[in-house]
Amino acid sequence: MKEEIKAYDNVLGLIGNTPLIKIKKVTEGLIGNFYAKVEAFNPGHSTKDRIALYIIEEAERKGILTPGDTIIETTSGNTGFSLAMVSIIKGYNCILAVSSKSSKDKIDMLRSLGAKVYVCPAHVSADDERSYYNVAKRLHEETKGSVYINQYFNQLNIDAHYYSTGPEIWEQTGGQITHLIACSGTGGTISGTAKYLKEQNPAIKILGVDAFGSVLKKYHETREFDNAEIYPYRIEGLGKNLIPSATDFDLIDKFMKVSDEDSAHAAREIAKREGLFVGYTSGAVLQAIRQYAEEGEFDENSNVIAIFPDHGSRYMSKVFSDDWMSDQGFFDSVNIEETQKIELIK
Ligand code: PMP
Repeated sequence: MKEEIKAYDNVLGLIGNTPLIKIKKVTEGLIGNFYAKVEAFNPGHSTKDRIALYIIEEAERKGILTPGDTIIETTSGNTGFSLAMVSIIKGYNCILAVSSKSSKDKIDMLRSLGAKVYVCPAHVSADDERSYYNVAKRLHEETKGSVYINQYFNQLNIDAHYYSTGPEIWEQTGGQITHLIACSGTGGTISGTAKYLKEQNPAIKILGVDAFGSVLKKYHETREFDNAEIYPYRIEGLGKNLIPSATDFDLIDKFMKVSDEDSAHAAREIAKREGLFVGYTSGAVLQAIRQYAEEGEFDENSNVIAIFPDHGSRYMSKVFSDDWMSDQGFFDSVNIEETQKIELIK
């Protein structure tokens, strides 16, 4: 008998079941045990593969989507990449409205996967007609046979993590997780994962990460939307200038705000000290771990699971570019002797 060839039917079979990896060096000196759920191991290199596949398959199941239709979304890049990838395999067109804050690498990557991309100004209010929310809405109205994924206001974004990320972490930790720490953008990752984990053990603490310049932390604490909290910042994918319904604020115990500069240095440190090439918001999560630790959040029995949302390759022209770091003034207050010099051989 011939041996069976072991192969995936297509790339979508690799979505989910990402590894937990201990992060020991970058948490040196902190009390507790720290593990990263490294979502860069998804085939589209981010956690957004999970929601792209789940939402599209739910729409197919309900008969809303049929091959040849068009998928439309607003995206800081990662969701778009995942939607474009799933669209290729399943035979859909993909149109994406992207913020001008997104790196050129991300936009080029979306185009590489055949998506049509509209770049919209980042620093306009959410209700401005040029905002990527309104551009996507208009494109949806104008395009026959289209589905608007609307990840910020789609319950399925939460469900995707409730049915995958949450159970994976519970199983991988044998139920020993004490804290989940995750960035909040749409809030889908933290809310869906938290919902599953709290159902298993209500004592698990859910720690959110927010950006300076975003409204989420204040809203969580006061239930008030404060415009004064909003100002431009550099981290992509973290924080928000509106309140997404895909965030279940009741499931989150606390939020911590992190700065662009600290998060950038933390992302570079993860690469250099753990050999883990992950993105800007993974740095934000590490920075938040340090700030939570300073507040005495963890003890020696804490098993802290941090979600690292995406891969470092998406930030080559930003956090992983010394020129960019220097232009932002992020090298002004730190010793950069360690920064490798490029040797030119003539
Ligand atoms: N990190 C990155 C790089 C992202 O693109 C996103 C998504 N906006 C997040 C974190 C936050 O994930 P979520 O939208 O599920 O809250």
